[in-house]
Amino acid sequence: MVDYLLSFGWITSESVKRAFLEVDRKYFIPKNFQSDAYSDNAYPIGSGQTISAPSVIAHMLEKLYLNGGMNVLEIGTGSGYNTALISSIVGKKGKVVTVERIKELSSLAENNIKNSGLDAGNIELAVGDGTEGYFESSPYDRVIVTGGIPYIKKEMPLVKQMKEDGILVAPVGERFYQNINVFFKKDGRIVKTLPVLFVPIIGKYGFSEK
Ligand code: SAH
Repeated sequence: MVDYLLSFGWITSESVKRAFLEVDRKYFIPKNFQSDAYSDNAYPIGSGQTISAPSVIAHMLEKLYLNGGMNVLEIGTGSGYNTALISSIVGKKGKVVTVERIKELSSLAENNIKNSGLDAGNIELAVGDGTEGYFESSPYDRVIVTGGIPYIKKEMPLVKQMKEDGILVAPVGERFYQNINVFFKKDGRIVKTLPVLFVPIIGKYGFSEK
């Protein structure tokens, strides 16, 4: 799986590679999908939610530019796989706080992390609405949202609880269609790293004239 992620360019840094080698995905995959633990797909984890595909997670983690010692907030614990990867990267001096809306999934993640054998001393699991952030452990160097969110605005607690020069990565868009966006916090404002505004391509396979 790691060779695949490297060869397709989903993993580019040594730190993300090391985390993927340290955290074994099989502990986060339900029993009935064990034979597919290392394939690049999302799988159901119960409560109508899924564990994300490894390529998507790798891509988001690369965009987050994590370093050892950082304080990270994750919204959407799910299986706990991404939490474990972040924990591995930020190390003992760092911390990852992960907020999950569904209590059963938070417990599932806690068990998965325990079974994986990872030293979880730097992980804090919380149950609640992650769009409110998690004030108690703020401010954060990095924020990662692991489910689709309609927008990111500077007034949001998620942004307010982030340090100046912090990075936030989130899939932003509609309910079932998003793009992964990267935001920087500068002078208390939030700046999208790649703001794009193109004129439309008009054509048979593009936009219509009007
Ligand atoms: N990072 C996970 C994937 C999670 S899928 C993994 O590696 O397995 C997204 C998760 O976000 C789901 O578990 C869903 O229950 C959770 N979620 C949805 N809305 C939320 C909210 N407002 N606050 C916290 N978690 C939320």
